[in-house]
Amino acid sequence: MNQNILEVDNLHVSFKTRNGAVPAVRGVSFSLKKGETLAIVGESGSGKSVTAKSIMQLLPKQNTVIPEGTIRYEGKDMLKFSNKEIQSVRGSDISMVFQDPMTSLNPTMKIGKQIMEGLSRHTQLTKKQARQRAKEMLELVGIPNPETRLDAYPHQFSGGMRQRVVIAIALACNPKILIADEPTTALDVTIQAQILRLMRNLQEKMDTGIILITHDLGVVANMADRVAVMYAGEVVEQGTLDEIFYRPQHPYTLGLLRSMPNLDASRAQPLIPIPGSPPDPSALGTGCPFAARCPYTMKVCHDYNPGAVAISESQAVRCWLQDERTPPEHIPAEIKEGRRSTEEAAADAEGVTA
Ligand code: SF4
Repeated sequence: MNQNILEVDNLHVSFKTRNGAVPAVRGVSFSLKKGETLAIVGESGSGKSVTAKSIMQLLPKQNTVIPEGTIRYEGKDMLKFSNKEIQSVRGSDISMVFQDPMTSLNPTMKIGKQIMEGLSRHTQLTKKQARQRAKEMLELVGIPNPETRLDAYPHQFSGGMRQRVVIAIALACNPKILIADEPTTALDVTIQAQILRLMRNLQEKMDTGIILITHDLGVVANMADRVAVMYAGEVVEQGTLDEIFYRPQHPYTLGLLRSMPNLDASRAQPLIPIPGSPPDPSALGTGCPFAARCPYTMKVCHDYNPGAVAISESQAVRCWLQDERTPPEHIPAEIKEGRRSTEEAAADAEGVTA
């Protein structure tokens, strides 16, 4: 069975402020296998980008605290890495692509040189070989006339082409993991589809594991094998793409799905936005952070935050509705309908372990 290449366990990240530490990520756990895509979804401020940046240790050291948790890459805890160790992993084993390609590109440097920089830092290639590899990467990401384009500057490319260049830089050293933070949000729909197709093709060729950070469920549906839904710094639900889209069990996941446009016009339904806004992270109480927006809130929800409950081999949910002590009449039909019986979940688990 394919081993996990990355395991994030009980990760907590806080930011130091004048008024004390403000939690941004609260007990997040997930894993990634070689060649699979895990989408991390949620509204802005849910902690998804902070989680991604803490894997790469890109958060400002002077005001970030990671009081608990581990981030294991191939079994080793990256949080214990020295600066030198993290530098050698960053860009070679794990790469990151951000939303705005201009933040990743140096506007004063030819793009060929920018691709070659990582190659000379992380590989033994000669200058000539690195240039050849840079050309191949441009070809691979679909840049026409790659030999001449090696000598062009970022401003000579369109937005979509610049994001292709960023992907070429990120994948030049053949990383095992690519973290893509809203990689297509700044692009128009046609270019977005091209970039996503490109990422999928490259993933197949290179067997790269992808962590895709996005708020766009359409992108998730096109790309993900598994999905982690984040809210107020926690993973409130995770599961396979089918489980999250067809058997969602957390009221927030249901809300996100209802607020997503149905791409199939014959089944178009009115969009139902989630009322209210996410809680202030500096004023979180002891209860479920979604309680103020949840249509199914019970008394217990205001007092205690539920823990994660595994409801199948691959799906886990943080919600009191999943607790066996919750009276059945409190469980809404849309959650009940999506629920599999314990027997079905057990049969699934048996299938996996058989
Ligand atoms: Fe809603 Fe309660 Fe579940 Fe939170 S724990 S999502 S408030 S039902």
